This record gives sequence, C-alpha cells and structure tokens, in this order.
Amino acid sequence: MNSEDLTLKISPATKMVGVFGCPVKHSASPAMQNAAFLAAGLDYVYLPFEVKPDDIEPALNAVRILGFRGINLTIPHKETSIPFLDEISEEALKIKAVNTVMADSGKLRGFNTDIEGFLKPLVMEKKWPPEGKKAVILGAGGAARAVVFALLNEGAGEITIANRNIARAEELADFMKNIFPGSIIKTAGIADSSLHREISGSSLLVNCTPLGLKGETPLEDASCLGRGITVYDLIYRPSDTPLLTAARNRGADTIGGLGMLVYQGAASFRIWTSVDPPVDVMKKACEKAVKGVRL
Ligand code: NAP
Repeated sequence: MNSEDLTLKISPATKMVGVFGCPVKHSASPAMQNAAFLAAGLDYVYLPFEVKPDDIEPALNAVRILGFRGINLTIPHKETSIPFLDEISEEALKIKAVNTVMADSGKLRGFNTDIEGFLKPLVMEKKWPPEGKKAVILGAGGAARAVVFALLNEGAGEITIANRNIARAEELADFMKNIFPGSIIKTAGIADSSLHREISGSSLLVNCTPLGLKGETPLEDASCLGRGITVYDLIYRPSDTPLLTAARNRGADTIGGLGMLVYQGAASFRIWTSVDPPVDVMKKACEKAVKGVRL
C-alpha cells in the first residue's frame, strides 16, 4: 500500500476510524488497519490522533459529530473514556477498560478487544487452554488487568501477580477476586526470591511490564524457566526480548507481543465492519510497521 492508493480511495462516502492516544505517533495500528481495509475492499480510512488526557470528552464528542464509524483508545484513555460512552460491553465494564468504540446511530458503544487479542495467540496458535492451569503475571498495570481477567475468565486454576509496587499487585488481586469470587490469586514482589518457585510450578509466564523495550529483562535469573512453560512477552518492539531469548535457550516455548496487537486490531476491525478480518495481511503490515518500514 502507498499513500497515493489511499488518497485516491478517499471520498465523501469513506468511513473514518482511528486511534486516540498520547503519545500515538509510534502506533502500528494505522498501517495494520489501512492494509486490512484495502485487502478487504472496504472504503474506510484509519488515522492516528494525539488526544491529551484532559481532552478525551471533546474528542469523543467529535467522533459523534463528525460521523466516525469508530475509534480505538490507547494509553491514557482506556479507563477515563468510560463516563463519556453510551453503552459498554460486559467485559469492558468488568475490567474498566475500553480500547474500541463503535459509533452507531449517534451512540458510542465501548468494547475491550485486548482480552481476545491476548488469548488468541495463546489458545489458537499455541494450543494452551488456560482452564485449570497455573500462571505468573509480571506487572499490575492496564495490560496485566486484561491478561489476568482473560485467564481467570477462561478458568485458570491459579494466578500469581508479581509487581515492583506490591500494593498495586494486591489491589489488582482484590479487584479480580471481586469479579471471580473463590479464585486463587497470589501476589509477590517482582524481585522476590520466592517468585522463582512460583514460576517453576507454573506453565505460563506473562511479562506485562515494559522491561524488554530497551534490552532489560524483568527476570534477571532465568534458571526457573525450562521445558513445560510458555513465556509470553507483551512487548512487540523488539520482537525478540531478552526474556524470550533466555526462555527459548532454556527450552521454553515463547510468544511475542505482535500476535496480541494483531488480534486485538482484528477484533476491532470486525466490530466496525462486520467483515472477517484479513489477519495475515494485518500481521504482515504490523511486522513491517514495527520494524519502522513506512508502508
Ligand atoms: P502500565 O499500566 O504503565 O503498567 C506498567 C507495569 O510495568 C506496572 O506494573 C509497573 O510496575 C511495571 N513497571 C514499569 N517499569 C518498571 C520497571 N522499571 N521495573 C519493574 N516494573 C516496572 O502499562 P501497560 O499498559 O500495562 O503496558 C505494559 C506493557 O505491555 C507495555 O510495554 C506495553 O507496550 C505492552 N502492551 C502490549 C500490548 C500488545 O498488544 N502486545 C497491549 C498492551 C500493552 P509499578 O506498578 O511498580 O509501577
């Protein structure tokens, strides 16, 4: 796809979608979604908009007034947008995070596709059904909230949330225990020595921290990793983080964050268009975009 193709296709009938975030300029979503619309022969265009934290209400009003089909929401708008939407899906309401908005007859309906985005690479591609399994989650921020919800909602047997700020891990555990009464959720500090025992006894480790973006790792000593554990790093740039390399060297199965990015985008695409998303096209466009190649 090049910009000329895209410009030529824009007409008064073109449906607009996009992403509101701050910052937003490194987003791979415009490349991924525009490639998908072209491949599917749909008259849509997807644009990035830098929306400051305090401007989310007027920005969402603009979605209504300007006739957008919908919008993605990313940091810092996933939670703060909720009071300004007309309807929220059950899942998004439960985890208090919306990443996809659909505008329908003047109403804004909020969804969370991060949950599906996280699960698809794990369940469909790696054949790892969470039911009854033990998992350790590193981090307790917004991404961890979607991940812990996704795993417990699929019947995971036990979750340990490990975070630098342990109070935040405990807060997330309490939040999830309210949604899933009776679930087993433990907490730990990310540097606790006891964490290694938890990881050794688990079959999934998910990194929901940004450690790995710049060559760091959330797990200095990777000796607890080995065959029988799947290590899932939500970071997608770089595609191979030090955690994934260490895990693979020790015989563990690994998943990078690109699949989650693609599948959450594919689910948004389906919400806006009611058309099956061209996932392979989206994956290729995303790979190019995260490598910094301009499409
Ligand atoms: P967030 O809400 O800001 O949470 C960040 C988490 O990382 C917190 O638990 C924080 O711990 C921890 N953390 C940050 N810096 C740390 C450090 N130096 N040492 C130890 N822990 C540290 O961010 P988020 O939205 O959850 O995103 C987390 C990561 O997931 C990001 O890298 C993001 O790009 C990635 N992500 C990927 C996808 C995808 O589609 N693949 C989707 C969503 C997010 P404290 O609570 O102690 O501060």
